[in-house]
Amino acid sequence: MCPHGSGTRIVSRCRGRQQDGTMLSMARMHRLDQKKWQGIRIITLALLLGCLLVGPAAAEQPAAPLPNIHIIATGGTIAGTAPDKEDLLRYEPGILGVAALIASVPELGHYANVTGEQFCNLNSDDMTPAQWLNLSRRVNLLLSSPEVDGIVVTHGTDTLDETAYFLNLVTLSKKPVVVTGSMRPATAISADGPLNLLNAVQLAGSTEAEGKGVLIAMNGEILGARDTEKTSTRRTDAFASPDFGRMGYLDDGKPTMYRVSTRAHTADSIFNVSELTELSRVDIVTVYPGMDTVAIDAYIRAGTQGLVIDALGNGEYPEVIHPVLQAAALKGIPVVIASQAGTGITTPKDPLFIPADTLSARKARILLMLALTQTQNRDRIATLFRTY
Ligand code: ASP
Repeated sequence: MCPHGSGTRIVSRCRGRQQDGTMLSMARMHRLDQKKWQGIRIITLALLLGCLLVGPAAAEQPAAPLPNIHIIATGGTIAGTAPDKEDLLRYEPGILGVAALIASVPELGHYANVTGEQFCNLNSDDMTPAQWLNLSRRVNLLLSSPEVDGIVVTHGTDTLDETAYFLNLVTLSKKPVVVTGSMRPATAISADGPLNLLNAVQLAGSTEAEGKGVLIAMNGEILGARDTEKTSTRRTDAFASPDFGRMGYLDDGKPTMYRVSTRAHTADSIFNVSELTELSRVDIVTVYPGMDTVAIDAYIRAGTQGLVIDALGNGEYPEVIHPVLQAAALKGIPVVIASQAGTGITTPKDPLFIPADTLSARKARILLMLALTQTQNRDRIATLFRTY
C-alpha cells in the first residue's frame, strides 16, 4: 500500500507497486507509462477544447437580474425619531421620508433595484378608509407596470394589520405586496426597522411570495394579512396569527414559506374598488358586562350602514342590546358578530346576524365595508365572510 502523505517523493516511492502491493515488470511498467502519457495528452486536449467551447460562455453568463421593488412609505414608527437613542417610547412617528429609509439600508441594493415614494407620513392611527382606497389605487397602478415586480408598504404598526387585509382584498395582481413597520423608532439603539425593511424587500422580490396574498414581514417572520393581529404594545415580536400561526421565516436573506391561506385574496378577489372614493360607514360596538344601547343607538342615528359587534366568547352579549340589534338587522343594517376571545369562529344564536368567521372585529369591519360595495343581502354577505 502507498504510505499516506503528500508530495512527489511519496508518489515516486510508490511507483511500480499496485494498490495490493505486488511488483510490476519493467516492460509492463514502460507500456503502462506510454499508455498513461497518451491518456494525459487526450485529457489535456479535451480540457482545452472544453475551455474554448464552454469557458467563455460560462464567464459571460449574465447574473439573474435583480427584481424591481417599489417602496411606498406611509409613516409610522419605522419613520419615527426621538432626540435620544435610548428613547424607545417618547418619539414622533412619521418623521423620516422614504429617501432616508432607503438610504439607511444600503444592503437593499443586494436584493433589488429599489425605488420609493412618499404616500403620506402618518401615525397609522390616523389612517382612514379613504386613504386605503387611494393606497390601493396606487398599488394596483404600480403593479400593472411590467417595470414593477413587487411592492413594499412601510406603515405604522397600530393599524398595519388592517391596511394589509384591505390590500389583500383589493389588490388585483399576484405580484408580491409586503407590508412592514417597526416597534422602535429609527433613532433607537437596536432599531428593528432596518432589518424589517430589508426582510420586506427580500420577500417582495422573491417568487415565494407570488400569489400568496398580501404578506407582513416583521421580526424575521412572514405572516398572512388575513389572520394577523398586532398582539403586543411594545415588543418587537408584536404581530401574530393566534389562530393559524406564521406562514414562514426570513433567514439568511431568503424567505421560506411553510403554509398559505386558503381564503380568497388579491387576483381571486371580487372586490374592485378602483372607481370608489369612499366606503360605507361601518361601526364597531365593543360588548362588556353592564353595557346599554347608547353607543348602538348613536351609531344608528349617525347613519351607520353596518355594525360589527365585538362580542364575548362565542359571539355573546347582554340581552339588553339584542332587540336593538334585531331591529337594525330587520331594517337592512347588516350585523356581524365577532369575538374578543382572540381565536375561533362565532356562531350567533340569531340567524339574522352574520358570523365573522375567525376575523377580529377590526378585520370584519373591513370585509363588511367591502361586502357592502357588492350587496346588502344578509345571505350573500354571510357567503363573503366564508370566502374571504
Ligand atoms: N403609533 C405608531 C403607528 O402606528 C406605532 C408604530 O408604528 O409602531 O404609526
